[in-house]
Amino acid sequence: MKAVQYREVGKGPEIVEIDVPEPGPGQIRLKVTAAGLCHSDWFVMDLPEEQYTYGLPLTLGHEGAGIADKLGAGVTGITVGESYAIYGPWGCGVCRNCAEGKENYCTRAAELGIAPPGLGAPGAMAEYVIVDDARHLTPLGDLDPVETVSLTDAGLTPYHAIKAAQHKLFPGATALVLGVGGLGHVGIQIIRAISEATVIAVDVSAEKLSLATEVGAHHTVVSGPDAAARIRELTGGVGADAVFDFVGVQPTIDTARASVAVDGYIHIVGIGGGLLPTGFFSTPFGAAVRAPYWGSRSELIEVLDLARTGAVSVHVERYGIEDAVEAYTRLHHGAVRGRAVVVP
Ligand code: NAD
Ligand code: ZN
Ligand code: ZN
Repeated sequence: MKAVQYREVGKGPEIVEIDVPEPGPGQIRLKVTAAGLCHSDWFVMDLPEEQYTYGLPLTLGHEGAGIADKLGAGVTGITVGESYAIYGPWGCGVCRNCAEGKENYCTRAAELGIAPPGLGAPGAMAEYVIVDDARHLTPLGDLDPVETVSLTDAGLTPYHAIKAAQHKLFPGATALVLGVGGLGHVGIQIIRAISEATVIAVDVSAEKLSLATEVGAHHTVVSGPDAAARIRELTGGVGADAVFDFVGVQPTIDTARASVAVDGYIHIVGIGGGLLPTGFFSTPFGAAVRAPYWGSRSELIEVLDLARTGAVSVHVERYGIEDAVEAYTRLHHGAVRGRAVVVP
């Protein structure tokens, strides 16, 4: 089968021919219907050799959907021929966080060598993918897999961050979205769907700011050293009650810090390597800073239900698997409008 793999540190993704995998006991094989590209794939592929821990070759794709095609011994609750989305942040299933469905915060995954598909385990950017356990599959029903596959990360990750700050998104409050890429353009829609807050979106690109307006942002601001002053002006001096940084580079973290309201929330979701110093005078009184990771199993069900209501839709650029390298190059250059999805 065809697969998109990272095979050599520093070399970028390649299209290769590999064997179709067989599901072991408890595992499910999916015939992949869609696999999304995430900027985190580039985080991984940009790591120097001494920091790269994901194994080689690595089949990419941590946003996946497919049709159940073959069940390993002992699998129950999955119907061959049905369409599923893959819940990616695999955990042990047993620790307290996993028992709550928060496998993204599994306390034992590292110790047990459990890694998400596409970020250690073979991912979904291939004709077939193996899912380790039935609990990591969520039925898609009538949802179009290509249109919704990215909700497994570009939807779930913002949803998890936004829900944790929902008490800050009261009517009259301001939510600040930094970065209107794959995650940010879905994040804006989630804020609009579950709150009455005013949304201010920030990006470096005029094209991304027009997408922000299209998906429901009330105001847009060009990223840079002057952004915080403009955000203060738009909020009558108060600042943003909840800040979601979907970039995480030093300039956006500086904007987050300079724009947050007293008693506000900053969620640093992007892994761009920027730092926010903590200490009594580093942020306004009462401000909280958090770095959330992915989301829980029940939140994936909720975000898919939001798509079913029509409140959230991903802007998809669709590619065949043979064009995946081109799609990755576009993502690297910030040229993807919304999310790039590979259809094997
Ligand atoms: P993307 O490439 O689709 O979007 C990034 C956006 O940021 C683009 O629109 C780009 O124009 C914008 N941008 C770049 N520099 C900027 C700046 N200085 N100011 C304002 N905007 C700027 O990326 P994505 O797939 O949406 O991922 C976003 C980030 O979130 C990445 O760092 C990714 O690795 C990370 N991520 C984290 C988690 C998590 O669990 N915490 C999950 C998924 C992705
Ligand atoms: Zn991701
Ligand atoms: Zn666990």
